[in-house]
Amino acid sequence: MGVRQDSLPLMEAEETTADPELFDKIVNLSKRRGFVFQSADIYGGFRSTYDYGPLGVLLLRNVKDQWWRSMVQMRHDVVGLDASILSPPAVWEASGHLANFTDPLVDCKECRARHREDKLDDPDTCPSCGAKGAFTEARQFNLMFKTQAGPVEGSGAEVYLRPETAQGMFINFANVLNTSRKKPPFGIAQIGKSFRNEITPGNFVFRTREFEQMEMEFFVPPEDSPEWYRYWCEQRRNWYLDLGISEDQLRLREHESDEMSHYAAATSDVEFLFPWGWDELEGIANRTDFDLKCHAEASGARLEFHDPNSGERYVPHVIEPAAGATRTMMAFLMAAYHEEEVNGDTRTVLRLDHRLAPYQVAVLPLSKKPELIEPSQEVLNLVQPHWMCDYDQTQAIGRRYRRQDEVGTPFCVTIDFDTLDDQAVTVRERDSMEQERVPIAGLVAYLESKMSK
Ligand code: ATP
Repeated sequence: MGVRQDSLPLMEAEETTADPELFDKIVNLSKRRGFVFQSADIYGGFRSTYDYGPLGVLLLRNVKDQWWRSMVQMRHDVVGLDASILSPPAVWEASGHLANFTDPLVDCKECRARHREDKLDDPDTCPSCGAKGAFTEARQFNLMFKTQAGPVEGSGAEVYLRPETAQGMFINFANVLNTSRKKPPFGIAQIGKSFRNEITPGNFVFRTREFEQMEMEFFVPPEDSPEWYRYWCEQRRNWYLDLGISEDQLRLREHESDEMSHYAAATSDVEFLFPWGWDELEGIANRTDFDLKCHAEASGARLEFHDPNSGERYVPHVIEPAAGATRTMMAFLMAAYHEEEVNGDTRTVLRLDHRLAPYQVAVLPLSKKPELIEPSQEVLNLVQPHWMCDYDQTQAIGRRYRRQDEVGTPFCVTIDFDTLDDQAVTVRERDSMEQERVPIAGLVAYLESKMSK
């Protein structure tokens, strides 16, 4: 979303209550099973920066793929873009980020701790040392990372890391319009890294300095923008529900007029019930013609739509659904996490939709005996071209099932000694734990029918 607004105070859940313990469970699971690692761990860790491990990279990729599928692949009116991360000051001057993408920063004169003024419980008391009245005047701190391009230092070489992907779509508006044969209503979508020098990063991957966004700018005739705004609010809400977040953990919250950027005609947030309360996953804004007009004025380019048949000429208005991929990945993990009693034991299971799960199938020989390894390898070869598979031949089978439950694998395929006679395998379903004997020859078709969505 363009120029930053102050973050909203956290709101308490209304009907459903947040689960504060869930946070630690997800952080522990993420580290223990290889979803998310602290960055530069062996050097003591680099604050607020995370690396996505073997399972995290799969889950994150699936989140982004599902977004791309629904926003680009399944539509005829949205095209993709992959714009650069580095950009010259002119872009951020025109967009307003150089002047306004700021948070109010205060320093404690006693202990030198820095805080975001708008996040303090008591604006007069330092939460680090308790000193009263010791804060400096608030300074507006710009959140953009600045660096330099080329070997010569100097203002001419200044560049910024993008704090959002959106401006890439605005500055390429004419390029896309001229090459794609699209006309409003149409959208440009992009997934990529963004960087913000957050004063108070935290809550694991919820707020980090380097993160991934999934954003789309939808250009529409001005008079149609209220209708398209409502359309995209609904579409985006349904995307989360379709992928397994339940209705009581998700809400669409319309901003009050004093929360909105001055140029926005309407804004809503899709919010998830995090362990600390309701918080933002995505913002959907009617940005009017603000961005195209700013860039047209600053660059001298004509950023408008001209219909050669009707002679009509106008600057489209923009509806922007802007989501965070890394933040959303964490929400899907939290929504999927369940603990339940099974035969006196606690089973941890991630009820991830199969489209998001890191592995869709685990291939498990009942034992390490050589006669089972070869057919297991054959089953793996059969299934692997269709789905992401894990293969595991260590430990007792019950423990291996639990390991797969814990990372959300929907189907385990077990090869046992009967397989050698009946050419069939046991397929175990994660949520029901039901097992079914399936002939190897029909295994792919069987799994396909189970994962048809
Ligand atoms: P917030 O109020 O949480 O700082 P924002 O309103 O500034 O977010 P936008 O500029 O609307 O965020 O960015 C769109 C989406 O990008 C957010 O809804 C969020 O999912 C994601 N996002 C923004 N900042 C971060 C961050 N520092 N770390 C992780 N994700 C982020």
